[in-house]
Amino acid sequence: MNTINDSAEDLATRGGGFPAQEQQPPGHTTDMTPIPDHGEKTWIGRGRLEGLRALITGGDSGIGRAVAITFAREGADVAISYLPEEQSDAEDVAAWVERERRTCILLPGDIRDEQTCRNTVDVAARQLGGLDVLVNNAGHQWARRERGLEDVTTEDMDQVFKTNLYALIWITQQALKHLDKGASIINVSSIQAREPSAALIDYAATKAAINNFTVNLAEELGPRGIRVNAVAPGPIWTPLQPATKNGEDMPSFGENTPLGRAGQPSELAGAFVFLASPLEASYVSGAVLGVTGGRPVF
Ligand code: NAD
Ligand code: MG
Repeated sequence: MNTINDSAEDLATRGGGFPAQEQQPPGHTTDMTPIPDHGEKTWIGRGRLEGLRALITGGDSGIGRAVAITFAREGADVAISYLPEEQSDAEDVAAWVERERRTCILLPGDIRDEQTCRNTVDVAARQLGGLDVLVNNAGHQWARRERGLEDVTTEDMDQVFKTNLYALIWITQQALKHLDKGASIINVSSIQAREPSAALIDYAATKAAINNFTVNLAEELGPRGIRVNAVAPGPIWTPLQPATKNGEDMPSFGENTPLGRAGQPSELAGAFVFLASPLEASYVSGAVLGVTGGRPVF
């Protein structure tokens, strides 16, 4: 039966071992067993992002959903981008955000297209009345086959590189027309940047590039008072996993971490709230913050 987890204690003691399951990309939250925890029942807002306006790509599900819900609990208005076929997931997020009496702008579109990226940012900024935080979270991977480099097709490369890198650069370029002193950018990297899996050879390369881009852009934007950081997740229970890996890999997913289990999206949220906070993270830029269950990210 699908359930939302009840408590932080529940999270900390969970041993992993998800049932075998598979979906087609991009995957949907309601088709997962169990349904991930995005902090719906656990996150207590303390006004840490009061009045901020954030654009979160891939904000319909998984890590992006947890960021959207917790940002709203902390007092931010959000805009989320996602693929059109994820509309039902996006509407669920909007309902959670609106329960906090916060705005949630829904921006469906395929960010492999440059004009879609630029429009997404401009519409978000216009409808939110400005932009303070950009979370570059959308991403794609493909690990359903045993793959060596010779098995990576140009089509695979286009999907992974355009979603994870081209879009991130296009969206960031456009956001710079709206972000002012005190704003911040948070990119989503991965443990794969430091510890690549052979089956994710193209994806892992994009995540290493995102770390490099983060540090470099922090250097460029520091003088403008804009902070740039990355969060590097380890194995997290999101639709991306059953949608892009073999179903029989799910029972052992996350077991190879020192904490011995996969993380829940809600367990990433604190890292994003911290990095977005102009007070708490005022001197933090160019950082890659690992939330990996214990594996190193540098
Ligand atoms: P997810 O599937 O819930 O979120 C990824 C989102 O990316 C999708 O919901 C979708 O809206 C968006 N997306 C993908 N292709 C797109 C496209 N062409 N156009 C528009 N949007 C598109 O999965 P998640 O695990 O929460 O992924 C979020 C980020 O976390 C990704 O960058 C992923 O690489 C990263 N990450 C995840 C894990 C993990 O174990 N889940 C580990 C390390 C890093
Ligand atoms: Mg999704």
